[in-house]
Order: sequence, then structure tokens, then C-alpha cells
Amino acid sequence: MIKSVLAAIPIYNMSCFKMSFAVGKSLNNLLKNFVWEGAKDNKKIPLINWDTLCLMKEDGGASLRKMELQNSALDAKLSWKMCKEPQKIWSRLFQKKYLDSEDTNRILTVANTERGSAMWNFLWDCKHIITDHILWQIGNGNTALFWRDSWDGFPALSESFEDKRWVDMVENCIGQHVCNYMENQSDQNGLRIWKKINVGNPSLCEKLWKAIKDRKIPESVEKDNIIWCAAKSGVYNSKLGYEVQRQRGSNNTWQHKLCWNHKILPKVGAFLWIALHTRNLMGDRLKTIGILGPNRCVMCRVDEESANHLLFSCPVVEYCWN
Ligand SMILES: [Zn+2]
Repeated sequence: MIKSVLAAIPIYNMSCFKMSFAVGKSLNNLLKNFVWEGAKDNKKIPLINWDTLCLMKEDGGASLRKMELQNSALDAKLSWKMCKEPQKIWSRLFQKKYLDSEDTNRILTVANTERGSAMWNFLWDCKHIITDHILWQIGNGNTALFWRDSWDGFPALSESFEDKRWVDMVENCIGQHVCNYMENQSDQNGLRIWKKINVGNPSLCEKLWKAIKDRKIPESVEKDNIIWCAAKSGVYNSKLGYEVQRQRGSNNTWQHKLCWNHKILPKVGAFLWIALHTRNLMGDRLKTIGILGPNRCVMCRVDEESANHLLFSCPVVEYCWN
């Protein structure tokens, strides 16, 4: 209900505009309150905090979504569309106004542009969700960055060298893009020939040559293509765009299948989930939050009421289990 209805209502607006901090917080509060209070306005104690609710079920959460991250994931889709649909009017407008280039893929590689409309600024701020997970398929080599991008299925070349200062030096000498490092002709197998790098330092040149000599790029006039490697299909989608931003829990042994299981009643699953977090409102927990009252177990009237006692160690319950 929360994920498919409540969280889905603002999706259209969120996919174009940045929500203010206050609006995001209010939406998160509405969702959080609905979890514990339902549609009616009856105050109840939130048993599990919002950050835990937003963890994945495998990490002990309920897989709810934080609106601000959902907002970024939806907006990153605009960056992706801009690269993949350069002929669209809005895309051409942005590329002319802010990128000063015919190539819309350039949004992924240019380091800075001027700030502009609210939509452009937000699109620019969210593009890291795309750029952190892209691989380049090299075509004519005009867009992908030779040292800094992952291309040809390998990690970025700059990552194999500890000292990164030389990257600036080589880029200043030769250029940033893959095409700057290719000869104009190909070999007899149709593979591009790499230029010999000459930056004055023989041992560095030797090292650089070793890193690139085995990379084989077929000759092509197509422009460089991007693949979003967080998705198996290589195509960005906002659902996975959210997942790559989601905070991961530290507990990898969470028994989520016990609680989130279609074979048991949802309310039983929810009770179990809260019990595994030891957050049920038993006598021991009520005491810690300042609600004092009789806290003996109502069945044996001997021990303090706690989740562990009521579910396992109470003699009456033991008799049931046996
Ligand atoms: Zn008992």
C-alpha cells in the first residue's frame, strides 16, 4: 500500500523537479506515520525508526523508500534520457544552452558547466548516479575519457597507477579522449592502432604503453555508447538508481524470509519482524520509555514480561512449543 500508492503519488513531480528539504521531510513523515498509525489520526508509538524501515528487507528493513533519494533516482533518468535521446527538443535545448556541444553524452564527462534553470541544476547534481556506474563501449572515441573512464570492459586506466598527477600531465600533452590516442588508420584485422605515447619520461611511457597495448578497439564511426553497469540490461532505471544510493545494513544474517513470506498472515509477519528487532511493546520495553505499570508475565506471573520470555522461556509457552 505504502510503496505502490502513497509513495507513487508524487512521482511525476519528483521526476522533473527537486523537492525542497522541508517537503521531502514532510512526505517521509506522512509515510512513516501511516506505517504505525494507519489512515486514522490515532497516535501510536513508532516501534522501528525510519532509517531501519528504509533498509532492504535482507538487511532487516521494510524496503520503504526515502523520498529525497527517490527524487534523485528519478531525476538521474533525465541525464540518461538526455544521452540516449539527443534528438528530443528539451535535450537539444540543454545541450545548446549549457554544453555547447552536439554530443549529449558530453554531460557525463564535462567537469563543470554554468548553473542554470532549476531543472538543469538538479539534473547536473544527480548525474553522479549514472556516472558512478557507467562503462563505455568505444565507437569513434570522441566522448569517453581515455584515462578516467572505464571502457572496453576494464576499469579506468588511471586506477592502475598510484600517482595520479601524471594523468593531468599526459592529458595536457596528448588530450583527454580516447580518439586522441588512436592513429587514423587501423591494422589488417580492423583494430585501431594506438599512438606511441611520448611525454618525455621513458619509464612512464613504457608503463603507460604496457597498460594500453592489449586493448583492442574495432574501427567504427559510431559515437561512443554508454552502458549502465548496475543493471544487467545496461539500461538505467530509477528503481535500481534508488538501490545504488540505498544505505546497506551491516547485518547480513537477517532472517527476512521468516517475516516477509506470503505463506503467513501479514500481521503475524509484521509482529515477528518487530520481535526480531526486539521492539515489541512488552513490559521491559515500556519501562525503558517511561511507561510504568505491572510488568509481570500475565501467564506465569513470575518473570518480567519481555519478548524473549513471552515467546520462548515462559513455562506456559514452553508447554505449547513442546
Ligand atoms: Zn511467563
